[in-house]
Amino acid sequence: SDEEAAAKAAAVNADTGAPTIFDKIISKEIPANIVYEDEAVLAFRDKSPKAPVHVLVIPKSRDGLTELGKAEKRHEEILGHLLYAANIVAEKEGITEGFRVVINSGPSACQSVYHLHLHVLGGRQMKWPPG
Ligand code: 5GP
Repeated sequence: SDEEAAAKAAAVNADTGAPTIFDKIISKEIPANIVYEDEAVLAFRDKSPKAPVHVLVIPKSRDGLTELGKAEKRHEEILGHLLYAANIVAEKEGITEGFRVVINSGPSACQSVYHLHLHVLGGRQMKWPPG
């Protein structure tokens, strides 16, 4: 069934702790369209945008945060920093009439890259609930 196929596809993308493509974006080994950067976070355009504005905000140091579901007390500061940076991105992109921030955590949420990231989406009317 479609559901079984989707579950199978998601399951191959479970967290292994292996390095991800985002390491190469952080090191600038592979190019990305950077929207915002500070000492702790990097924000760049998603290569497969799902809205007119689709920016990913990531911690420069993964530090065990492969997914939100692995967050520990010590990550509180960076988690707050990422969320605040999401609003800086929204302001820079001019999507002040509304935007959405999404974190997919784990296979059931279709997470595909295991380096914590916030999706900042805007520039169109969003639907609720998401799929
Ligand atoms: P997830 O599915 O894990 O929540 O989101 C991962 C996101 O990373 C996807 O939206 C995907 O399009 C994006 N992505 C994957 N590889 C690259 C890349 O090499 N460059 C950029 N800019 N985005 C990427």
